[in-house]
Amino acid sequence: MAGGPAEVRLVSNAMNNAMRRKVMALLTEGKKTREEISGAVGPAMLDYHLSILEGAKLVHIQDDGVALTDFGMNFMQGKSEKPRASADLKGAKPVDVVEVRQLLPCIADKSRFRIIARMEPPLGKALSLLEPLFPRGRYSDSIGSLIIQKGTVLITLYGTGNVTMTMIKDQEEAMEILEGLSETINRAIASGVTPAPRERVRIDPLEVNRYLPGTNCRECGEQSCYSFAIRLANGEVPVDSCPTLHEDRYAVRLEHLRALMAYL
Ligand code: SF4
Repeated sequence: MAGGPAEVRLVSNAMNNAMRRKVMALLTEGKKTREEISGAVGPAMLDYHLSILEGAKLVHIQDDGVALTDFGMNFMQGKSEKPRASADLKGAKPVDVVEVRQLLPCIADKSRFRIIARMEPPLGKALSLLEPLFPRGRYSDSIGSLIIQKGTVLITLYGTGNVTMTMIKDQEEAMEILEGLSETINRAIASGVTPAPRERVRIDPLEVNRYLPGTNCRECGEQSCYSFAIRLANGEVPVDSCPTLHEDRYAVRLEHLRALMAYL
């Protein structure tokens, strides 16, 4: 499977759910029937969760049997071999912005752009230690990236050195943000002191609610968007249970919600 942004998002979304993570862990023992999976993790929305894992190419389903794909096996192996504590900021080298490219306009606002950029040298696992430097930053082990929210702009820094940004006005704004990021990172590297890890903060349903459509249409099965926000913040329902969010005009909100949910 290719590691493009769309595929990374599919895998990230697939693994952003406690039940799907349990299914993946169970399948590392070998192929299982639906009945065995249901017995181990519970029957709630099992077909839905399996279809998300299959869509991300992490599992394949044949007749009644479910097994990890080769990609799924590598992914799970990679996770168990990625101890976050082994990263050390002292070994990191200062980074430079070496490339900025403007991509297609954003779906939700055609006057804004998606940007792809590159910082070198790649920070690798040291990226996870930079999370406390950014108040709106969260590191995801599953995709090896640091996601930073800056107003409406969503920035994703990968350990490979790639950077993506959405809702950018122009290349000048992109460059300004990237230089600000690299300065913050380089100051931490120059000090040689690894920032103290920040405690995980519980996600506030009010914050989640800001990104929901606010129509209270009840298509998600809840009485209102706020009821849905409470269940989302508790990790009880997937973001995809709100069909309205899949309309083009809510694309940016959906992306922000996925970024928030990645850390539940
Ligand atoms: S389906 Fe979406 S828009 Fe409708 S009530 Fe639920 S959360 Fe709100």
